[in-house]
This record gives sequence, structure tokens and C-alpha cells, in this order.
Amino acid sequence: MRIDLHAHSNASDGTDSPAGLVAAAVGAGLDVVALTDHDTVAGHTEAADAVHALPPGTRLTLVPGAELSCVVDGISMHLLAYLFDPAEPAFAAERELVRTDRFRRGRAVVERCRALGADISWEQVRRIAGAGSVGRPHIASALVEAGVVASVSDAFTADWLANGGRADVRKHETDPVTAVRLVREAGGVPVFAHPGAVKRGRTVSDRVIADLAAAGLAALEVDHIDHDEPTREHLRGLAAELGLLTTGSSDYHGARKTVRLGEFTTDPAVYEALVDQATGAKPIGG
Ligand code: AMP
Ligand code: FE
Ligand code: FE
Ligand code: ZN
Repeated sequence: MRIDLHAHSNASDGTDSPAGLVAAAVGAGLDVVALTDHDTVAGHTEAADAVHALPPGTRLTLVPGAELSCVVDGISMHLLAYLFDPAEPAFAAERELVRTDRFRRGRAVVERCRALGADISWEQVRRIAGAGSVGRPHIASALVEAGVVASVSDAFTADWLANGGRADVRKHETDPVTAVRLVREAGGVPVFAHPGAVKRGRTVSDRVIADLAAAGLAALEVDHIDHDEPTREHLRGLAAELGLLTTGSSDYHGARKTVRLGEFTTDPAVYEALVDQATGAKPIGG
């Protein structure tokens, strides 16, 4: 069983369509893939339709999910949510709030970039994002198009889009204890995404992770491209102490990042345990 529980489509900042992601998951030999776009479930229907349309003999299970943007003590962090009821109003309203504020913030980031001499426009960013939940990676792609930086990851520096960088503007993000409760109340299973991804900026303390565990967090995403081995060791120890499960996943973004789908995976027994905790939705297909 090859299980990848974190992947993005062009419903947020990935480059594959939801159906394209399903095809890519089959191509990568995955048995299970989770669709976890930032603050949106807009890709779920297309991905589910693509799973149902797979030829007989091709087996893939789709785990519908999302990745919620959170902030605590000024530190941004991401909470993965699996198998929640997408119609549950309180969690749906919170996703909507974050998505809406992404537009205000996106415009403001573009203005900052222009003031810093980058010849990009909001129209260009909207074209790149399409129907997707708009974020810094789309603006990074605009900076690449304009020849300002060589790659998307080169745009995430203090000069441009990194947290606290010259062109960074905050968006509305949810308090993570509230977010964990919202996910559970919607029947979902909350997992802390890349808790030790120091290259993205400051990371939260073990104390905060303990608070999240007490609030109902299910797992830490440990095997992730942005974690070095000592970080993984530490997170595994912390998870054991706090009674949390540990997952592994690629955080695939299509062509916007170099990581391959299925490059990191989750243990089948952990996957089963996560699914058993969910009451909001069921895995699709398989
Ligand atoms: P946003 O959600 O608009 O605040 O943008 C955050 C997204 O930017 C993350 O989900 C990643 O896809 C991407 N990102 C953050 N830090 C980096 C980095 N250092 N290199 C490449 N992409 C990054
Ligand atoms: Fe992303
Ligand atoms: Fe993330
Ligand atoms: Zn992600």
C-alpha cells in the first residue's frame, strides 16, 4: 500500500487539475491520495468523478481533505483536515473567510512587488491562479514570468515573498486550537502539516503542539521534504509522548515544486486509524 496524504491541485496552488492529480496518483503507483487544497474543497467533485471514471482494474482511493491556514503567536502554520463534512456550516464559513481575504492580500502583495520594481499585475496573477484559491505561489509564478526570479522557490526569500519578506502581507488565518475543534465538529480528522518546516519561517513550540493535542489533534506530519532527520526524530518522540499518530506525505504541488507525488508516504495502519476517526465523509473509490 502506497499512501500519500497531502497533495494540491489547481483548486489552490498546485498545477495539476483535480482530475490530472488523480491520473498522476495512478501513474505514481499510489493506492491512496488525499486532495488537500489550501482553504478550499473546490476540487473534490472533479477528483471524485475522475476516480469513479478510472478503468476497471485501476484502484485508487481518494481522501477528500483541505489544508487550513492558521496562525498562533504570529507564527503561520498549516492544519490538514481529512474526511470532514464539507457542508458543515462553521468550518465552511471559516474556509470562506480565509479564501476571501486571500484576494485582498494578493492585491496588496502585487502592489508591494510593483513598488519594489517587479513588473507584474493582479490580472496576471488572476490568470495564473484561474479558479484556484489565490496564494503567494501564484504571485511567485508571476515573478518568474516577469523574469524577476528564476524559480518559484527563489521568490520565497526576504527580498520578496517569504514570511516577513519585503513584499509579504498577512492574510486572515485561524487560531489552530479553534481550527482543530472546527475540523472535529465537522466530523473530520486534523493533522498538523509540516510542523518543523523551518525553511518557511518560524515554527511553533512543542507547547503549542501539546495544546493542539489536548484540543483533539490526531497526528503530526513527520516525513516531509522540509524536515531534516533530527527534526523527524524529535517530532516522532513528541508524537509518542502526546499520543499522536505520525504521517508522511509529499505535499505535491505539480510543477510549482520539485517534490514528486508519493515521495513520502504514510503507514497503512496509521491511515486506517485516521479513517476510523472520521465521521464527516468516507474515502472515495478503491
Ligand atoms: P500562502 O498560502 O499564500 O500564504 O502561501 C503559502 C504557500 O507558499 C505554501 O503552501 C507553499 O506552497 C508555498 N511556500 C511557502 N514557503 C515556501 C518556500 N520557502 N519555497 C517554496 N514554496 C513555499
Ligand atoms: Fe501550497
Ligand atoms: Fe502547507
Ligand atoms: Zn500543502
